[in-house]
Amino acid sequence: MENIPFLAFAMPAFLLFVYAEYQITRKTRQKSIFRHESSVSNISVGIAERLINLFVAASFYELFYYIYNNYRLFDAGSSYSAWILLILGTDFVWYWYHRLGHEVNFFWAAHIVHHQSEEFNFTAAARITTIQAIIRTGFWCILPLAGFHPKMVITMLLVHGAYSFFTHTQLIGRIKWLEYIFVTPSVHGVHHASNEKYLDKNYGDMFTFWDRMFGTFQAEEEKPRYGLTHPLKSYSFLWQHFHYYFEIYELWKRSKGFRAKWNAVFGSPAQMDQDIRPMLEKRFLQDRTHDVPRLKFRGYLYLQIGFCIAALTALTYYWQFTDGGTRLFVTLFILITLINCGALLEQRRWIYYLEYARLFLCSVYLLHKYDLEEYTLLPLIVMVIAEQKLHLGKRYSRFVLQAERQGK
Ligand SMILES: [Zn+2]
Ligand SMILES: [Zn+2]
Repeated sequence: MENIPFLAFAMPAFLLFVYAEYQITRKTRQKSIFRHESSVSNISVGIAERLINLFVAASFYELFYYIYNNYRLFDAGSSYSAWILLILGTDFVWYWYHRLGHEVNFFWAAHIVHHQSEEFNFTAAARITTIQAIIRTGFWCILPLAGFHPKMVITMLLVHGAYSFFTHTQLIGRIKWLEYIFVTPSVHGVHHASNEKYLDKNYGDMFTFWDRMFGTFQAEEEKPRYGLTHPLKSYSFLWQHFHYYFEIYELWKRSKGFRAKWNAVFGSPAQMDQDIRPMLEKRFLQDRTHDVPRLKFRGYLYLQIGFCIAALTALTYYWQFTDGGTRLFVTLFILITLINCGALLEQRRWIYYLEYARLFLCSVYLLHKYDLEEYTLLPLIVMVIAEQKLHLGKRYSRFVLQAERQGK
């Protein structure tokens, strides 16, 4: 895993590009490209993926080596032509992984998260989930099976991944001549749009010729409306990740007979019952205090996201030197913080329980670190008494969950 410390700089580099893009949109008066809440939500999804990736990436690489060493069909070698074949092969596999991600319910449940963003800027590129990464790895296995050395495959996947980051921006307009071969931000923007003529188009990541070959290419003509045809209307971290699995389960329950049940899981997302999501939203999202207003204390939100990025960078950099306990602590801390950020954006009443959980987690870790496990319950008792005497929960809700427009 010699490339992990190098990956530690991916997050700060990402932030630098987002900051540069944000400054340019301000200077060129294109402020509407960024919506703060949505950007925070996008970045939260990306942080979780990078974090869980630390635990699973090694097994992805081992799987590539296992397939290459035992089952490779050919020997591609490492000549220039092998690299050219690899870059074409990678994008070809991507095309089908991505297309199936839109055409099969089970795959769409993971890929939908990438399309929930109604803004199209660098932060939208961060909307990748670990489930998506696992499914994608299944597809990438074709490359070592075809005979490409895992080292070459891993290098190519880094290049391929980096390329797609730069196609998520509105700052670069159409570059018509480039579109004949390469995916440009305009071409990928069309893929992210919900305009009728743009649906299910432009699946390629680097090249446009697969789309032209299979009849799914569409150039930008009218102004794209970014996001899903039926927007999610929720910033909840957990709901964004799992809502479509619940939708599939509900459809599966309603379906009668094997064929219908099979289609609920592997059928087309276009056939999904549109009344299922509102029904589930009523069941799972009804405890909102307001209809997603702007928070007065957004600084608290940014502070938490900044902290998560710093913690993730440090954990990635020092991964080899950390023990299991520390890894688990930092991971849980970051995940609770991300759920917290989503709950803040949604102004959930239960958010202060998360604050308690985070404080308790910190105290347990510190007590464990200094061999004081026998006092583990003490912080919990202090917290319960403090809540009883000082009504911290109520004060917290009144202060932190203030909406901007209410001006209190
Ligand atoms: Zn897509
Ligand atoms: Zn995209």
